[in-house]
Amino acid sequence: MAVKLQEKNIPFTILEQSPSLGGTWYENIYPGSGCDVPSFLYSFSFFPKKNWSKVWAKQEEILEYYRDLAAHFKLNSHIQLNTKVLTAKFDEKDNLWTVTTTKGDFKSNFLISGVGQLNIPSIPDLPGRELFEKPAFHSAKWDKNVKFEGKTVACVGNGASAIQILPEIAPLCKRLHVFQSTPSHITGKGDYAYSPVQKAIFQLPFVATAYRWLWYWRHEILWFFFKKGTNENKTFTKLVVKEMTEGSACIKDPEVRKKVIPSFAAGCKRVLRADDYFSTIARDNVTLIDERITGLDKDGLVTAKNKYPVDVILFCTGFKATEIVSSFEVQGTKSSLKERWEHGASAYMGMAVPTFPNFFILYGPNTNLGHNSITFMIECQTNYIVKVLHETVEKNHKKVEVNEAVFQKYQNNVEKTMEGLVWTAGCASWYTKNGQVVNNLPYSTVYYWWKTAFASLSDYVFK
Ligand SMILES: Cc1cc2nc3c(=O)[nH]c(=O)nc-3n(C[C@H](O)[C@H](O)[C@H](O)COP(=O)(O)OP(=O)(O)OC[C@H]3O[C@@H](n4cnc5c(N)ncnc54)[C@H](O)[C@@H]3O)c2cc1C
Repeated sequence: MAVKLQEKNIPFTILEQSPSLGGTWYENIYPGSGCDVPSFLYSFSFFPKKNWSKVWAKQEEILEYYRDLAAHFKLNSHIQLNTKVLTAKFDEKDNLWTVTTTKGDFKSNFLISGVGQLNIPSIPDLPGRELFEKPAFHSAKWDKNVKFEGKTVACVGNGASAIQILPEIAPLCKRLHVFQSTPSHITGKGDYAYSPVQKAIFQLPFVATAYRWLWYWRHEILWFFFKKGTNENKTFTKLVVKEMTEGSACIKDPEVRKKVIPSFAAGCKRVLRADDYFSTIARDNVTLIDERITGLDKDGLVTAKNKYPVDVILFCTGFKATEIVSSFEVQGTKSSLKERWEHGASAYMGMAVPTFPNFFILYGPNTNLGHNSITFMIECQTNYIVKVLHETVEKNHKKVEVNEAVFQKYQNNVEKTMEGLVWTAGCASWYTKNGQVVNNLPYSTVYYWWKTAFASLSDYVFK
């Protein structure tokens, strides 16, 4: 967003609560942290990196990419670190936003939220939590001082973060209990380090771009498998289950082999990518437990059937993903976002909300993906938002707001299209609030690119 604003000579300030830029890749420093979209694709088209060390980069390399990007475009002087936004209120008298932060108030003509969907850790509210005084922390708040050697460790959850962490810590632990509520579909990454020859080839003109597009289309094609109840989805499910059955053959106990394979349609929950999850579960010091956790006591976790005394508890329990833009309060002309979104978040193309003038959201409602890269989505969104802002500034308008009828028509279509997609196939996933899928895009990214690139400005009311 900052790069695109800079290109259009629109002045801006970035308010960041952390002591560093990087967001997801500054915060998620757990062992094994990395992307599950290949790095050539999980990077911006306008700042290609041609020397990724491996197909799926780890956290340090991705964070370095963002730091390089900020340095290259001279963005650091625009970023106010350690500044948490508390509230933002639109004042209709002067058409300005008052943004209240831990470092004081800011006034701005426009406000753009870039707080992400996966930023607020979600920890189950288990009774007795205060009784357990040994280390217990969330994957996104990793405590580097905690050592796992010779310890008995409980990992609550077996989702995207857990399957990256477990292979790293299992060889260190005396015993590792993995608490699974539901299994996920998992397919291999086939990760490898790029050879010096491959890296040299990427430097040749157009090669890195062509390779990036190859990855894009390899992911985009998956979209056709996300339609609920179709032969395509059934075939996809069969293929993933076949791969999982073969991959989990290393697990000795047939009961555990059964437990790791989901019974619902593939794609309903996020399909995970890992090469070493099953070999980790197969280890003699690892136990997969599918009992419901009922609470904690001073020694560890308690389930309906057993007690599990442990030295460390890891909460790999995801994020408050459906509580979109909830880290600060946004007050529009008629209500707050929290009030408007009480039953579930929604926004025009995931970015604009009626009665919230001069306000836009990056990675907002219904813009998450199950099959492709979020950076692609964020790039579509920045181009779109800058186009609307540029029109407002150029034509000397004071206020821009999405037309309510245009929004409603779009939202009706989102909800109708969603009914035919695999996320409504009845599994428990982090995409749903009150039965409404609020996170995911119900369209292909090609369609979203088209809608954002050729959007009509008549969707907005300029004043
Ligand atoms: C472990 C992990 C792995 C992931 N892997 C992938 C992947 O492989 N592919 C993919 O496409 N997506 C992946 N994602 C999703 C990822 O969140 C997005 O790809 C991307 O990082 C979103 O960028 P963002 O800037 O919108 O949000 P974030 O990276 O979450 O950044 C939000 C920023 O807003 C700041 N902030 C929040 N609230 C406030 C406030 N009130 N005041 C000031 N600052 C605030 C935060 O400190 C943070 O710096 C992953 C997410 C996680 C957690």
